[in-house]
Amino acid sequence: MLTNCFRYWNRYPGARVDSAVPHYEFSDSALWKEWLWKQRFPGSAELRAYFHHVADTWNLREDTIFEAYVNSAVWKEDEARWLITTRHGMVFKARFFLANTGFAAKRYTPDWKGIETFRGTWIHPSYWPKEEPDLKGKKIAVIGTGSTGLQLVQDLAPRKFPIPL
Ligand SMILES: Cc1cc2nc3c(=O)[nH]c(=O)nc-3n(C[C@H](O)[C@H](O)[C@H](O)COP(=O)(O)OP(=O)(O)OC[C@H]3O[C@@H](n4cnc5c(N)ncnc54)[C@H](O)[C@@H]3O)c2cc1C
Repeated sequence: MLTNCFRYWNRYPGARVDSAVPHYEFSDSALWKEWLWKQRFPGSAELRAYFHHVADTWNLREDTIFEAYVNSAVWKEDEARWLITTRHGMVFKARFFLANTGFAAKRYTPDWKGIETFRGTWIHPSYWPKEEPDLKGKKIAVIGTGSTGLQLVQDLAPRKFPIPL
């Protein structure tokens, strides 16, 4: 498995939103008035650009700390405050603590027998490496045909069988 990509999630080839805009966008007019989508189902590059636009417009960066994994949050009755600590030793106290940790932020790898000894390259799409692996001409099996699987196939198939111009 290629694993040099823990900081990059879901950057697999062909990744795109499968809900059409404008359903998939914030309703704040300050955002949509200044933004023109190029595609109805935007791809990951366009989505990243959009979220940069959101961060800039809402001035989010100055209030954001990246790489801060919360590993403990304890309510302190005597202080009426949450005591929040991160994996790298940051400590915060707060009256309000919202854990918007998502339902799909935990990756799932099936515990199939032999997966660790498979001699080919295997890639979990969520861990797709920043440096594109050279898959040209390779036999590729895609397991799982939900949205991610279909998006991947559309991008990988032309690489295996390049369409002549
Ligand atoms: C591959 C994929 C494709 C998708 N495509 C679509 C789509 O096309 N259309 C659509 O509407 N939805 C799509 N979804 C679903 C959509 O991404 C989620 O519904 C949405 O992101 C949920 O938002 P959220 O804020 O609740 O959680 P998330 O976006 O998951 O955010 C949770 C955040 O909390 C962080 N976190 C978790 N635990 C901790 C901790 N202990 N300390 C600090 N941070 C923590 C995570 O790192 C993450 O950044 C897709 C999801 C995936 C995985």
